[in-house]
Amino acid sequence: MSRVYNFSAGPAVLPEEVLKTAASEMLDYHGCGMSVMEMSHRSKMFDDIIKTAEADLRELLSIPDDYSVIFLQGGAHLLFGGIPMNFLHKKAGYIITGQWAKKAYKEAAKQGEAVVLASSEDETFSYIPDCSDLPITDDMDYVYICENNTIYGTKYHTLPNTKGRPLVSDVSSCFLSEPMDVTKYDFLYAGVQKNVGPAGVQIVIAKKDFLTDDVKPYTPDIMNYKLMAEKESLLNTPPCYGIYICGLVFKWLKEMGGLEEMGRRNAEKAKLLYDFLDQSKLFKGTVRKEDRSIMNVPFVTGDKDLDAKFVAESKEAGMENLKGHRTVGGMRASIYNAMPRAGVEKLVEFMEAFEKANS
Ligand SMILES: *Cc1c(COP(=O)(O)O)cnc(C)c1O
Repeated sequence: MSRVYNFSAGPAVLPEEVLKTAASEMLDYHGCGMSVMEMSHRSKMFDDIIKTAEADLRELLSIPDDYSVIFLQGGAHLLFGGIPMNFLHKKAGYIITGQWAKKAYKEAAKQGEAVVLASSEDETFSYIPDCSDLPITDDMDYVYICENNTIYGTKYHTLPNTKGRPLVSDVSSCFLSEPMDVTKYDFLYAGVQKNVGPAGVQIVIAKKDFLTDDVKPYTPDIMNYKLMAEKESLLNTPPCYGIYICGLVFKWLKEMGGLEEMGRRNAEKAKLLYDFLDQSKLFKGTVRKEDRSIMNVPFVTGDKDLDAKFVAESKEAGMENLKGHRTVGGMRASIYNAMPRAGVEKLVEFMEAFEKANS
């Protein structure tokens, strides 16, 4: 068996320990004689799995009791539509910092009045707009952001001033990468295939008071978040196996020392790469420095052919998925929780050697 360093933006690298545990429990989960894939979602065994996963997540993020945790399916894309179905009554404000925020805005605009509060599209989403004094009005049901922009490599290091309006945030690609204060949000969600688990699960953390019965009449029950919270994510068959893997990742995070420690390690890994980029004569980061993400790091040489050569040669050297998103070009290294420091060190050494050989 040989594993590569996988810099994919998502689905992405998972902790090896977690994969090994899952492999060892594949045929017989804790002596019950079946796989988690084969058990009823109404069984005592699965009930333990989902309850333990929620409890561990609550502990990791210090989620208060007045917040619900919900496990959903359908991708972030289903939430783009589900959020306005549940919460858009009069108006909603959207800050457009990339493709995912823009898609969320478009879904909201299909259903009601969606207002663009700010955008960084003028510079290929390479920065986070100033959100200290946005044109937010009292009749806005919520303000929507995409907190870490997976494609462009930007992150809000300060949350917007929402002028008292509820904050809804897509945290898919930074979820559990460092501590976060859940109480600053009314509704946050993450597709887990970036930093937490396999594709097919979304985790919602929502203030109970924000969840409402007053949803649009066409809202399917499984997209009614208050109802899903009341049913403890078990209104219908949930993505059982994915939730189980998320639970193993939560245990792994606790063993690693929790989110403080994870944040420290992630900041260190990102610094290795950014320090190299900042002194390199060949490679250049594409993001305004103060808005850099510690999860997704895009960079370019400025020469398409050289970028392609880099991607091909890095693959030869055992580093996969370094090709950048088609809208940015160049390269992107996603360095999520499960990417070991050694992987980033290897990438930086490789970049150093590539620079020498190509200048
Ligand atoms: C990947 C990603 C999405 C899209 O997720 P799907 O599960 O494919 O719908 C949305 N938002 C962010 C921040 C992402 O990283």
